[in-house]
Amino acid sequence: MTGSAMRRLTTDILILGAGGAGLFAALHAHAANPSLSITIAVKGLLGKCGCTRMVQGGYNAALASGDSVERHFMDTIEGGAWLPDQDLAWILVNGAIERIHELENELGCFFDRNPDGTIHQKAFAGQTFDRTVHKGDLTGIEIVNRLAEQVWARGIHRLEEHRALEFIKSADGSALAGVLLVDIRTGEYVYVEAKAVLLSTGGGPTMYKYHTPSGDKSCDGLAMALSAGLPLRDLEMVQFHPTGLLAGEYTRMTGTVLEEGLRGAGGYLLDGGGERFMQKYDARGERATRDIVSRAIYAEMRAGNTSPHGGAWLSMAHLGADNVRRQFKGMVERCADCGFDLAGGRVEVVPTAHYMMGGVEFADDCSTELRGLFVAGEDSGGVHGANRLGGNGVANSTVFGGIAGDAMAGWVAREGTLHSAAEQMIEAAIKRSDRPLHAGEAVDLEAIRDRLYATMWDDAGIVRDAASLDRADASLAALSAELEQGTLPHGARDRAFNLAWHDWLNLRNLMTVSRSIVQAAKAREDSRGAHFRADFPKSSDLRTSVYTRIRRKDNDFACDTVPVRFTRVRPGESLLALAPGRN
Ligand SMILES: Cc1cc2nc3c(=O)[nH]c(=O)nc-3n(C[C@H](O)[C@H](O)[C@H](O)COP(=O)(O)OP(=O)(O)OC[C@H]3O[C@@H](n4cnc5c(N)ncnc54)[C@H](O)[C@@H]3O)c2cc1C
Repeated sequence: MTGSAMRRLTTDILILGAGGAGLFAALHAHAANPSLSITIAVKGLLGKCGCTRMVQGGYNAALASGDSVERHFMDTIEGGAWLPDQDLAWILVNGAIERIHELENELGCFFDRNPDGTIHQKAFAGQTFDRTVHKGDLTGIEIVNRLAEQVWARGIHRLEEHRALEFIKSADGSALAGVLLVDIRTGEYVYVEAKAVLLSTGGGPTMYKYHTPSGDKSCDGLAMALSAGLPLRDLEMVQFHPTGLLAGEYTRMTGTVLEEGLRGAGGYLLDGGGERFMQKYDARGERATRDIVSRAIYAEMRAGNTSPHGGAWLSMAHLGADNVRRQFKGMVERCADCGFDLAGGRVEVVPTAHYMMGGVEFADDCSTELRGLFVAGEDSGGVHGANRLGGNGVANSTVFGGIAGDAMAGWVAREGTLHSAAEQMIEAAIKRSDRPLHAGEAVDLEAIRDRLYATMWDDAGIVRDAASLDRADASLAALSAELEQGTLPHGARDRAFNLAWHDWLNLRNLMTVSRSIVQAAKAREDSRGAHFRADFPKSSDLRTSVYTRIRRKDNDFACDTVPVRFTRVRPGESLLALAPGRN
C-alpha cells in the first residue's frame, strides 16, 4: 500500500504538538473564542507524550517575598550569557507568575506548599533565589494531566498519532496554507488547511549519544521550519544536563535525567577516586550553571578520572538518607530500578543532551516570518540565549503557549483566511516522505543512528573546535546521503504503523538539524554558555554580542550573525541596581 490516498480537513487553528506549549495554546485560543474550531495534531497520545510530562524539578516564578521579576530576569540574562532577547525574557519572567496562578486556580494543579500555606520553592542551579515551584519531583505529570483534562473537557479536536511532515504554503507562496501530516496508525496522508498554525513540537536534541528527551522527539518542527525557509537562531546552543543516569549501554534509562534539585539541595559530584572536583572549575561548586558543570564532568572524563562506566558519581548520602528519600522520592525510586541507592549511596552520572536553546525566530506575539505560522515552546529561539536555567523551560512553553493561543484567536478574527494550497507542494512533500518506501538497497537504520550519535557527541558536543566541526560536517553529509539513497530494511513498504519508516523520517529530521547545529557552531568563534570552542575558549566582548541566524537554502545552509539588542539592560549593568528596593 504505497499509493498516496489523502484525507483533507479544515480547521481555524491547527496546533502541532501537545506539550505545555500546545496544550496551553489550545486552552487560551478556546477561552478567547469558544466558537473557533481548534485541532491539536500530535505524534503521540495527548497527555502521554513530549517532554513537559517529563519535567521533574519544576517551574521558575518569582513569587516569594524577597524575590522579584527583576532578579529572575537578571538570572535569565546572565545565565544566557547576554544572548537572550531581553523583551522575550521579560515576558517570560512576568508571565510565569501569571501562569502559576492560572495552573493552580483555574486548571487544578496542586504544587507543594510550606507549612504556612505559601507555595514551596526550591533551589535550582544558576539562580540567586530559590524560586522553583514543584510537585515533588514529578511536576510535569501534574501539569500535563491537568492541562489534558481541560482540553478533553472543551471539545477541542484531536488528531492523535498524527505526525506533521511539512508546511504547505499558499499558491502564491506568501502565507501558510496548511500542514501535511500522516496518520501513523493507517499510514494515510492528511492535509489540514488552517487559518493559523502553531508549531510546538518541542525541539529535543536526540541526535546525541546520551540524551534526555522523550522518544517521540526528533526535531521534526525545527526541520520543517528549516525546509520552509524560516530563520532559526542560536542553534549551536545545545544544553547538556550534567547528571544523566549512567546505567550501562543496554538500557534506555542511560541518559535520563537526575534533576538539578539534587545538586541544588547540596549533592556532591565525585570523581572516580571519590573526590569532589567542582571547586576546581567554579566557586559555586556543584551549583554552578549546567554548562559549567557539564564541561567539568567531561574534562574529568577525558582525564580518565571516571566511575566504572566512564562518568562521575553523584552523592547525596551526607544529606541524610531519610531526608533524601522524602525530598526526592521519584528520583530515589528511578535509581533503585537501575540498581543504585541514591539516598544512602552514590549514583553514576554523565552529561546528557537535554534542551535546545535555539529555535525559530519569533515576535512577542509568537508570530513568525511566515504569515499564519506561530511558534512557542522549545521550537522557538531567543528566550534563553546561550543557556537555559533549570525551571525556565516549562515556564517558557506555558507562558508563550498561552500567548500564542491568545494571539492566534485574535489573528483569525482580524485577518485569518483559508488559502488555497500550492498543490504541487503537497505532491512533492508526499514524494519526499514516500522516498524510502520504494525499491532499492536496504539501509541499516541502527548503524546510521549510532554513527549520528557518535558524530554529534564526539565532534559537535560539549567541547568543539574547527577541526572537530569539519569532521562532523563531512560525516553528516555522508550519513545524510546514505539515508536518502537507501530504502527501508526487510522490504517494509506498507505505511500503516510502519515504525521503520518513522525511524527513517526521524533520522532525516535529526540529520537536517544536526547539520544546522554544526554550521552555527562553526560560525560562533567564541565560547558562550553551552557553546564551548576549545580553539576560542574565551567569550568575546559581551557588549558586542551577536547571535547566529541560520536558514536552509536548497540542500545547503546560510548562517550569519546578528547583533544582540540590549533593550532593557546592558552588560555590566543590573536591573536590580536600576530598581533599588525591588531586589
Ligand atoms: C527529562 C526532562 C526533565 C525536564 N525537567 C524540566 C524541569 O524540571 N523544569 C523545566 O523548566 N524544564 C524541564 N525540562 C524541559 C521541558 O520539558 C521543556 O522545556 C518543555 O516542556 C517543552 O515544552 P514544549 O511544549 O515545547 O514541548 P514538549 O512538551 O516536548 O511537547 C512536544 C509535543 O510535540 C509532539 N510532536 C513532536 N513531533 C511532532 C510531529 N512531527 N507532529 C506532531 N506532533 C509532534 C510531541 O509528541 C509532544 O506532544 C525537562 C525536559 C526533560 C526531557
